[in-house]
Amino acid sequence: MNIILLGPPGAGKGTQSQRLVEHHGMRQLSTGDMLRAAVKAGTPIGLKAKAVMERGELVSDAIVSELIDAELTAMGSDVGAIFDGYPRTAAQVEALDEILARHGRDLDHVIELEVDEDALVERISGRYSCANCGANYHDVFNQPVRNGTCDKCGAHEFKRRPDDNEETVRTRMREYRAKTTPILPGYESRGLVSRVDGMASIKEVTAALDDLLN
Ligand code: ADP
Ligand code: ADP
Ligand code: ZN
Repeated sequence: MNIILLGPPGAGKGTQSQRLVEHHGMRQLSTGDMLRAAVKAGTPIGLKAKAVMERGELVSDAIVSELIDAELTAMGSDVGAIFDGYPRTAAQVEALDEILARHGRDLDHVIELEVDEDALVERISGRYSCANCGANYHDVFNQPVRNGTCDKCGAHEFKRRPDDNEETVRTRMREYRAKTTPILPGYESRGLVSRVDGMASIKEVTAALDDLLN
């Protein structure tokens, strides 16, 4: 199974991907996470991407498509893929079609998480994650069971993203509206799109996704 999770920043793509990994044994392929790892490691890709990401603009199509191709190459062909935050432009849709064909994979679902834009700034400004395992949390909506301790791995260090500030979030939303929403009609005409209410609770969204995938 190969699925794409689409939605603006803060829609819940990363949170739901982590839950799908646990429930369905799939693998999360997040271009955002891959780029942040490249920035942290100071690779040539990271050096190119850093300033673009800080502004909230999109990194080049060629870079993100190469990252996805490399991950699929490293992965077993029997493991399902969740594309989280990719594709984001028409050129990336084309690249993904070519990459999937080359890896002998078919696209099963394109799932759009529908959310109110007004809620997104609040979600993003409260977002943090475990510095050790990457588990996603929120100051109000998704706290660890024990304050200051990661539910998944027990670590006590957490981190926040430098691009999770209001100004950058506004740019990211503009980018989403201008470049990513236009890819939906093409997938729609291929009969691949399902919509899930991303304003429901985290658990309810997971249940809706589980229904769709079973
Ligand atoms: P995305 O990957 O789409 O940018 P995230 O999954 O990182 O979004 O979610 C953004 C923030 O909102 C996180 O802090 C997460 O814990 C929280 N969150 C995710 N889904 C929901 C939801 N359905 N209701 C409330 N908060 C949510
Ligand atoms: P969010 O979870 O808030 O939607 P991501 O973690 O997916 O954000 O992406 C963070 C940043 O990384 C984006 O603002 C953009 O600069 C870059 N990025 C991630 N995925 C892509 C992509 N598919 N194409 C271009 N840039 C990307
Ligand atoms: Zn952890």
